[in-house]
Amino acid sequence: MKITFWGTRGSLATPGRDTIRYGGNTSCVEIQGDDGATLVLDAGTGIRPLGESIQRGIARLDILLTHLHMDHIQGLGFFDPLFWPELDVHLWGPSSTTQGLHARLTRYLSPPLFPVRLADLPCSLTLHDVVAEPKFRIGRFEIEAGLVCHPGPTVGYRIHGDGGVVTYIPDHEPFLGEDELDLDSPWIPGLSLARDADLLIHDAQFSDEEYPLYVGWGHSSIEHTLAFARAAGVRHLAPFHHDPSHTDLILDRLYEDAQSAGELPFELTPATEGSCYEVSGREGRASVKLLPGKRP
Ligand SMILES: [Zn+2]
Ligand SMILES: [Zn+2]
Repeated sequence: MKITFWGTRGSLATPGRDTIRYGGNTSCVEIQGDDGATLVLDAGTGIRPLGESIQRGIARLDILLTHLHMDHIQGLGFFDPLFWPELDVHLWGPSSTTQGLHARLTRYLSPPLFPVRLADLPCSLTLHDVVAEPKFRIGRFEIEAGLVCHPGPTVGYRIHGDGGVVTYIPDHEPFLGEDELDLDSPWIPGLSLARDADLLIHDAQFSDEEYPLYVGWGHSSIEHTLAFARAAGVRHLAPFHHDPSHTDLILDRLYEDAQSAGELPFELTPATEGSCYEVSGREGRASVKLLPGKRP
């Protein structure tokens, strides 16, 4: 399967000359199975250019939302395939204890915030609550959703696909309230989703110096992300959801420091917009290759 990063930025789209390499669009990742099935992970601003790349004529598309913060849904109304009448779109995401997914999404996809209501979209749309349906299949993909530590109902996804396992947890503070990182603790949230993943895409919003100022905001420091990946025994880590204030030069320095701090038991390549990975082989022993990006 192929994994393409269309948006890697956290919290707010951050276009400009200082963010060209890591990217300015907010969370959106495409996973393409070998049979052509397409999963879209989150609908941040990166979903708009993804929509332009999808060939008309496909029958079905699945969008998996981790949660409904704006940086993960803002691009939804600008995703062209939602306006194709012949397309079957399945939208997966968490409900809250008081409102279903439809009611929660409609708060954004309705006037005055957006001119088109969810019910008026031309595609054939089916909504699924992943808290109620935590394990499901889409084509040959087997998917597991689990709640993680972030304000409001938020899930991560573990995706078994052709050739391996990809885990996607873009917003997550697994070490909230922990002074010491107990890597043997079975109680770290999200750990079972990430266990032995071939590729883990994980929140790494803050530098280690910044994190103490933002405890409880629902995000990880780079140090915590590395510790989480180590505890989970992943093979490849792509830190994701870069802070809007982190320019290309700052991110280069942060990840050079992370690489030089000591040997890591996994490959480390911070997520950059436009980059594409191929996961192939056998689950837990897959090869993860960084391919030339779809876009410059
Ligand atoms: Zn976010
Ligand atoms: Zn969030």
